Amino acid sequence: MSKESLIYLDYNATTPVDPEVLNSMLPFFSENFHNAASATHAAGRETAGVVASCRVAVSEFLGSEPGEIIFTSGSTESINLAIKGVSHRYREKGNHIITWQTEHRAVLDVCKNLEESGFKISYLPVNREGLPDLYTYENTLRPETILTIMMLANNETGVIQPVREFADAAHRQNSIFFCDATQAAGKMLVNVNELKVDMLCISAHKMYGPKGTGALFIRRKNPRVSMLSQIQGGGHENGLRSGTLNVPGIVGLAKACEIAGKKYWDDTSVMSSLRTLLEQMLTSNGRGYVNGSIKNRLPNTTNICFPGNKADTMLVKLPRLALATGSACSSALPEPSHVLQAMGLTDEEAFASIRFSLGRFTTHEEINEAVNSILPLLN
Ligand SMILES: *Cc1c(COP(=O)(O)O)cnc(C)c1O
Repeated sequence: MSKESLIYLDYNATTPVDPEVLNSMLPFFSENFHNAASATHAAGRETAGVVASCRVAVSEFLGSEPGEIIFTSGSTESINLAIKGVSHRYREKGNHIITWQTEHRAVLDVCKNLEESGFKISYLPVNREGLPDLYTYENTLRPETILTIMMLANNETGVIQPVREFADAAHRQNSIFFCDATQAAGKMLVNVNELKVDMLCISAHKMYGPKGTGALFIRRKNPRVSMLSQIQGGGHENGLRSGTLNVPGIVGLAKACEIAGKKYWDDTSVMSSLRTLLEQMLTSNGRGYVNGSIKNRLPNTTNICFPGNKADTMLVKLPRLALATGSACSSALPEPSHVLQAMGLTDEEAFASIRFSLGRFTTHEEINEAVNSILPLLN
């Protein structure tokens, strides 16, 4: 399958690197290869200066202070550090954590892992729209609740969670609130003070930056969040994440944040009009319906159930389209998407659902072509 003929509608899985981002990174693989921790020579100190300016760029994008940003290898690592780091640090205070059934596997798997070391996790339900209930949350919060984990936007459905309201409730109980904004960054405004979150993560490869780089925001006052490092050795990143810094990756992440900050309005208005077009053509005449809240949703994502059809079989017949089903095929028998299941879809409905995620480079022609190849397949 040549790349030219592939219609890529899987931007929520990963994005291509923006050419401007790539250009910003290139010198840091060759002439500017120096170690940001080499304080003994000018080249190292200069590299440290570049990293410092990248930290400023990322903090401006998120509305934080530069000193509140830690560079990591991506959101999976940030999630591990935030959840494990805080849980083990605040163990004396309590052992209870709250999250939701529709969180990303990275969050759910880390929580499962903590259960083995004695933590109690509440995995709260969502409604058919994919939204959480504040009353249920407030009734689940207790003095031992040290941490709450909620995503800002769901990767499978694009549904946006009411993070600020829940963060407020957490703070009334002096509990720490961590937000996984990996999917939201670049597609909506992400500001740590408006969201009132204490920790938040983003990943470069979901926003036209390189794979293998991310950032974790850790609030330094009101409240000052403290955590135990999960990777030791050398004391980089305030001792929270040791290891020689991935300077090209950090430069790429910073550039991706800068572009997202400037372009997000244009990006999102184009994407949402193309998404509407796609959705109208695929759901008219009762052929399909959209899973999750229509109102509280990212502009680029639509998850459509085509009743009576099997998404996996359809995808086999659509080799030119890059799409996702959300079903986990790690075992011999595919598992339906845990997100759609939590929203109350039957297994059959979940297996009939396809995620379309558009991006900065999606064109009108691609949407038309995608629709024209899907419609003849539908039962
Ligand atoms: C992609 C994604 C992750 C994992 O991020 P990586 O940087 O690929 O490790 C976590 N959470 C959400 C919501 C995601 O979409």
